[in-house]
Amino acid sequence: MVVAEKTYKHIWKLFEQIPDPEIPVLSILDLGIVRRITSEDDTIVITITPTYSGCPAMNLFEEDIIAKLKENNIMNVRVEMTYDPPWTTAWITDKARKGLEDYGIAPPVRGSQDKGELFKEGVKNVRCPLCKSTNTKVISQFGSTACKALYKCEDCLEPFDYFKCI
Ligand SMILES: [Zn+2]
Repeated sequence: MVVAEKTYKHIWKLFEQIPDPEIPVLSILDLGIVRRITSEDDTIVITITPTYSGCPAMNLFEEDIIAKLKENNIMNVRVEMTYDPPWTTAWITDKARKGLEDYGIAPPVRGSQDKGELFKEGVKNVRCPLCKSTNTKVISQFGSTACKALYKCEDCLEPFDYFKCI
């Protein structure tokens, strides 16, 4: 059996409905983790690049994908992981960045991929999702989950999470 083109399109659409386990305003498509959908005989092969290997949520992606496709009568599915090239925050869509901010989480600062900087004193120019000030400072490298750092805005004084998956 050959997998029809419309099946692939259908699957991409379904991915828009799978929320990120940690940030439900984002879908796995928004995060840019789905690399490709192919097929081997009658098995659909979904290739994903996990965002952050330390994220406990990563294991959930596979289950969520398989469950969602099953709901839609797509039964023969295999999920494969690829780490090459590694996921980067650049793959997060603009819509997702806006969604993060609206949700109260500062989206990753573009171009801040330097782990040394990140783990020593935090990323500079993180914008407060509430008042949009960049006068912010890192409080803790670990926020509500390992994927987020806790920041505080020096202007409105509100603490907030910074999405630091790199
Ligand atoms: Zn603020």
